[in-house]
Amino acid sequence: MRKLTILGATGSIGASTLKVVAENPEQFTVVALAAGGNVDKMRELCQRWQPKYAVMATAQAAQILQAQLRELKLNIEVLYGTDAMCQVAACDEVDTVMAAIVGAAGLLPTMAAVKAGKRVLLANKEALVMSGQLFIDAVEEFGAELMPVDSEHNAIFQCLPVEIQTRLGRCDLAQSGVSHILLTGSGGPFRYSDINTLSGVTPQQAIAHPNWSMGPKISVDSATMMNKGLEFIEAKWLFNAAPQQLKVLIHPQSVIHSMVQYRDGSVIAQLGEQDMATPIAHTMAYPERVGAGVAALDFTRLSELTFMDVDYQRYPCLKLAIDACYEGQHATTSLNAANEVAVEAFLNGKIRFTDIATINQQVLSKICGMNNPLHSYTLESLLELDTMARSLASQELKERLL
Ligand code: NDP
Repeated sequence: MRKLTILGATGSIGASTLKVVAENPEQFTVVALAAGGNVDKMRELCQRWQPKYAVMATAQAAQILQAQLRELKLNIEVLYGTDAMCQVAACDEVDTVMAAIVGAAGLLPTMAAVKAGKRVLLANKEALVMSGQLFIDAVEEFGAELMPVDSEHNAIFQCLPVEIQTRLGRCDLAQSGVSHILLTGSGGPFRYSDINTLSGVTPQQAIAHPNWSMGPKISVDSATMMNKGLEFIEAKWLFNAAPQQLKVLIHPQSVIHSMVQYRDGSVIAQLGEQDMATPIAHTMAYPERVGAGVAALDFTRLSELTFMDVDYQRYPCLKLAIDACYEGQHATTSLNAANEVAVEAFLNGKIRFTDIATINQQVLSKICGMNNPLHSYTLESLLELDTMARSLASQELKERLL
């Protein structure tokens, strides 16, 4: 029986994780649930799953939840804040941690799970993008078991040989005969739109992803393809890939979730329905397989599988992320931070869709123009850089407020 902490339990990945638990109650049990501010959803989850711990981001949210649970006569320990999230990610009562808090807020709890040597199911790509080598070194040092949840990275993982699967981030791809990793992406809701109309798209249009149902931030990132850019950086670290070994391909149907190309000309792909329960179940049960409550892929219903090169004029954020990946950790940490500020402003109706790329680009060029913006590779210095990039992004934002 695997004992789980779910960070980001009230979100989309949290829901898919609990769907897999519900399918396999004899294999998984929920010890702790953690979330930001959605008390109503957390109360529902506490009623259904009766975890030992429930953690909210703030004291106020925790107080409201505590009162509601008391009325329901549920004996659940309610905690709050980052330290408490780290505590439930690292405690002896759990062996597996789903890292699915959105954005930089997930870094410290995810690192706490890594440093406690847990099996870490990594959905929170921003944590790895922000900390790169530091994260991978901690996995090695503390003997954590890292499993990629992102459907693309999970697909790549499944297409790689076992010697790489068991030493993520530390193996030589070329030694295993790998020539390229092909990251596929649908291109989001605006892949066929006239580029000149993109400045006018609304948050509702941007979060309406054609193939996947996801939280708002990653949905906007999918529309700009910053998500693919963050995945490019994530793949570099997870698979110890040189940027030249990574290629992005538009695949509008999202049936193939990514591929690995070998030196001898073979290409291995992983296919499936567009349901995150599949990769999540894979990471939870690995190396075994369990039911995920997902329908089998029906090949007779598939029309065609098509592929296109990326048009960087349509997706400037993807180009920025790839450039940042070549540039180094200072660039990827800053780009991630700037993007979080810009996406939030767009979702709140403060800037245009196309301003996201402009703000990201401005912050990146300011950071890259600085002499030594990252003075050391520690969590503290990365968080300082994250704060600096957010403040630069906020300044850029002010100039563009609608
Ligand atoms: P959602 O927006 O649906 O959920 C985000 C979760 O994070 C919620 O539980 C939210 O809590 C919690 N949260 C937000 N801020 C904080 C905070 N400060 N402290 C603690 N918890 C916080 O996002 P998704 O589930 O879609 O995505 C989660 C992560 O997984 C992201 O990093 C995303 O890139 C990644 N991912 C998602 C995929 C998907 O299909 N959805 C696919 C691949 C990766 P609350 O709502 O209570 O505030």
